[in-house]
Amino acid sequence: MEKRVFSGMRPTGKLHLGHMAGALTNWMKLQEDSAYSCFYGIVDWHAMMSDYANSSIISQNCKEVMLDWLAVGLDPERSTIFIQSHVPEHSELSLALGMITPLGWLQRNPTYKEQILNIQNKDLSNFGFLGYPVLMAADILLYRSNVVPVGEDQSAHLEITREIARRFNHFYGDIFPEPDTLLTPTPKVPGTDGRKMSKSYGNSINIADSEKEMWDKLRTMVTDPARQRKTDPGDPAKCPVWDIHKVFNDDHEEMEELKAGCLAGSIGCVQCKKALKEHVVATMSPVWERRARYEAEEDTLEDVLREGAKKARVVARETMDMVLSGIGFVP
Ligand code: SF4
Repeated sequence: MEKRVFSGMRPTGKLHLGHMAGALTNWMKLQEDSAYSCFYGIVDWHAMMSDYANSSIISQNCKEVMLDWLAVGLDPERSTIFIQSHVPEHSELSLALGMITPLGWLQRNPTYKEQILNIQNKDLSNFGFLGYPVLMAADILLYRSNVVPVGEDQSAHLEITREIARRFNHFYGDIFPEPDTLLTPTPKVPGTDGRKMSKSYGNSINIADSEKEMWDKLRTMVTDPARQRKTDPGDPAKCPVWDIHKVFNDDHEEMEELKAGCLAGSIGCVQCKKALKEHVVATMSPVWERRARYEAEEDTLEDVLREGAKKARVVARETMDMVLSGIGFVP
């Protein structure tokens, strides 16, 4: 039997090469594997948690994320792709799960404590933020998912979902499988300043960037700080540009030559970056073409969203019927 997979993304704007090389590449591998049935949602209710005072940007951000998903190759024929708020059962299940989730589990959640301390520019002192693991559990459990793909650094996040599923099943019968984590590789993709690529650091190379925008960012990207002059020997192991080579450059011979040139101080960083640009352009050209096509065809995008929500709701309604009947709310 096929295993159900759920994964989601918060709509915070255009996605970048880090999303593409990490989560989205893994999602596409699952989409191509007949052992899995994939549900991928843009979780816009989660964006409300922090953007409630400026909610008009959420819907535009959802559109950008959907365009990026389709551009990199997520296929609505093979995966169920949808926007969370188009499937009202997410909120309904979240309410039911919230009733049985002990407050202490949420207050002890390490991400909650960490974010409250670290995020100073947004008001997170709301019920929605404390309760976000419940909504996250609803997203996953609504599809009675068996596995959730997570990056190597995030496996703890699923534990609370498993605990909520266990507690719900204890009260109301065996409704939810306890989902397993599917550890997926997350290659290192640094941003232009050498830190992790992230929209909040302003160091991203976006999927939607044009060739010129992408090159402007690559050209000025930091390299091994030891290379002040072209003749200074460098070390690719200390260079963020090299990490991006490792993701996009599949020409091993060229990689060896560049590495030797860097170590010997016989090539300049611009030459190395130009070589990288060729590989990024080769990978991104079909992505840019698909994105432009979907962007020009508003109706197609709307059809994809409508059909995705319709497909998701078939399973979502089935689960909610089981949940309501388990609780005893039968009409
Ligand atoms: Fe980095 Fe390439 Fe410059 Fe070496 S030559 S420091 S790998 S950009």
